Amino acid sequence: MKKIPELFASMVFSDTVMRERLPKDVYKALKKTMSQGAHLELDIANAVANAMKEWAVEKGATHFTHWFQPMTGVTAEKHDSFISPAGDGEIIMEFSGKELVRGEPDASSFPSGGLRATFEARGYTVWDITSYAFIKDGTLCIPTAFCSYSGEALDKKTPLLRSMEALDKQARRILGLFGNDAVSRVTATIGPEQEYFLIDKDIFLKRPDLVYTGRTLFGARPPKGQELEDHYFGSLKPRVSAFMKDLDEELWKLGVYVKTKHNEVAPAQHELAPIFTTTNIATDQNQLTMELLKIVANRHNMVCLLHEKPFAGVNGSGKHNNWSLTTDKGGNLLEPGETPFENAQFLLFLVAVIKAVDEYQDLLRVSSASAGNDHRLGANEAPPAIVSMFLGDELTKILEALEAGESYKDKGQNQMEIGVTVLPHFPKDSTDRNRTSPFAFTGNKFEFRMLGSAFSIAGPNIVLNTAVAESLRQFADELEKANDFTSALAGLIKKTYSEHKRIVFNGNNYSDEWVVEASERGLSNLKTTVDALPEFTSRKSVQLFTRHNVFSETEVHSRCEIMFESYCKTLHIEALTMVDLVKGEIIPACISYQNEVAELINNKKSCGGHSIALEEHLLGQIAKLSGCLLKKLTFLEQVLLETKEDREILAHAQYYRDKICPAMSELRLIVDELETVIARKYWPLPAYGQLLYSIV
Ligand code: ADP
Ligand code: MG
Repeated sequence: MKKIPELFASMVFSDTVMRERLPKDVYKALKKTMSQGAHLELDIANAVANAMKEWAVEKGATHFTHWFQPMTGVTAEKHDSFISPAGDGEIIMEFSGKELVRGEPDASSFPSGGLRATFEARGYTVWDITSYAFIKDGTLCIPTAFCSYSGEALDKKTPLLRSMEALDKQARRILGLFGNDAVSRVTATIGPEQEYFLIDKDIFLKRPDLVYTGRTLFGARPPKGQELEDHYFGSLKPRVSAFMKDLDEELWKLGVYVKTKHNEVAPAQHELAPIFTTTNIATDQNQLTMELLKIVANRHNMVCLLHEKPFAGVNGSGKHNNWSLTTDKGGNLLEPGETPFENAQFLLFLVAVIKAVDEYQDLLRVSSASAGNDHRLGANEAPPAIVSMFLGDELTKILEALEAGESYKDKGQNQMEIGVTVLPHFPKDSTDRNRTSPFAFTGNKFEFRMLGSAFSIAGPNIVLNTAVAESLRQFADELEKANDFTSALAGLIKKTYSEHKRIVFNGNNYSDEWVVEASERGLSNLKTTVDALPEFTSRKSVQLFTRHNVFSETEVHSRCEIMFESYCKTLHIEALTMVDLVKGEIIPACISYQNEVAELINNKKSCGGHSIALEEHLLGQIAKLSGCLLKKLTFLEQVLLETKEDREILAHAQYYRDKICPAMSELRLIVDELETVIARKYWPLPAYGQLLYSIV
């Protein structure tokens, strides 16, 4: 293996490569476009394209693609080769600035949420200059945004970039008020921790439910689950370790710096965390990470499950979205400062986030809603469906003291004057860990923990960036008008905390008392995706997104439509898979076993003298369960027949939640019980025990 520094980002057309390979003036012009969004001239684009092609061809690439993130949640690419005919049967390798900057994939096969009706089928991709091009599998991939011809965003990247712009604009207004004019860019930085399961491929292929839906639709509890908690941070099995080494190398080549890796709580569950970076790069990299997890697992004859809840009764997988605000001068705006003045700035950004999370709790909930994640949120293994924030005792006490106009004493009993001019200076590492909180302050960043493992992190960060931009906008409007900045600032921090402190909760989010208290505090508890999604198109939501130019009203509606569609389709496929499995595999297994037992009884009877109590008992059990099975199967088939796509989308989704889901659960209950009765050699599906302990 090459040394890591040599390997790292070796497949990325990074800043270092650009500096080496681009003429000085081209490099400068490109950097200007990157940092200030200046227009990119065609001759510059041509020069960059040429350098990119030369570099890519040297690395063995033959094709290029505009790599984009449509609303499917996965990435899309359409490969074109560099080869152009040069006459006389000769070829040359070509790549123009035009090809680099803009592409025209057919948009008609990607979800558009009704937008398709209003625009032509063509869409176009535009180079996202702020995310580096890279080589994957012999193809030069150019990160792009994907829009319709009339300019509507058809992807997750475009609104993400717009939300970053909104946040940058408002955060710099605030910094300006603190006399911080040197900062020319504020970006949200993200470090997404990724959970996943690894199982043996041969066993995976014997589970059509996993193959079709990514999760097990049936499966009785194994004798051993995660009770002993012996997997968490346990030593890695050699096969898993070999996989992780291979994965690390692949990710390092693409410039993804994976820092930690360990076993998670559930058997066969693992986690990786990259070092944080700018929002859009982190988003690209997380998509690549999910893709590579699958590809590399396959090389090791394993399958990586990214579904939020592959196994009932065992912890599911999530994604922790670590989020902070960083300036181009390297400062972290959520890092408590060294001086009272810096601390005042820190507190202002802190209350901006508190206000944003409180005011837009419903949108944050929407951003973590999916059919898959419905199995986790609120199930006492993941955060509840109620959004709240953990600040830790010390920070909370400081804000409480500030609100009450009292002074605050730190652990060393140093008196801190909290008043007009002196704001508290407190030790950084005073944040405790609270694993049950959906949104926790962890020292110098927030950790949003409701995301599902299969999610693109774009959605949640679009909401978070825009909501915080809105708090900052209101703050800047108020402070810019103030005669006495310092006292206006202290007053604003106090008032904001006071108005939004209901969202702060440092206790156990899994407790039943919290559900009651949260309701008393007036916090939302949107239990399922179907409850949450309508909030996305509320007036308040549309106002937020349109004010900051993140989504147009049409885009908001189309996104909501896509989320609803995806929910219904997911459940539909799951229900059909259940029916298929029960008819094609479970029922035949029951019949075969039933036959064997019945024959045994007959044989014993004809020989006489043998006890047949056990066999008869078994036969009775099978007969009873088979009867129930038939009933539940028929019921599921019937409710499936009654799904009507022409219903209004909300009613359609409600039907899936209220009719299809319960019918699926009831059917599963019977099948799982049958699994404990039917002899193992007749049972057609590998058991949970085999799946969870498939890697030895
Ligand atoms: P843990 O939360 O497991 O204790 P760490 O605190 O080391 O682990 O970090 C977890 C994740 O948070 C990592 O992906 C890391 O890159 C990310 N992170 C750390 N600092 C920041 C920051 N300023 N902005 C965004 N993400 C960050
Ligand atoms: Mg974490």
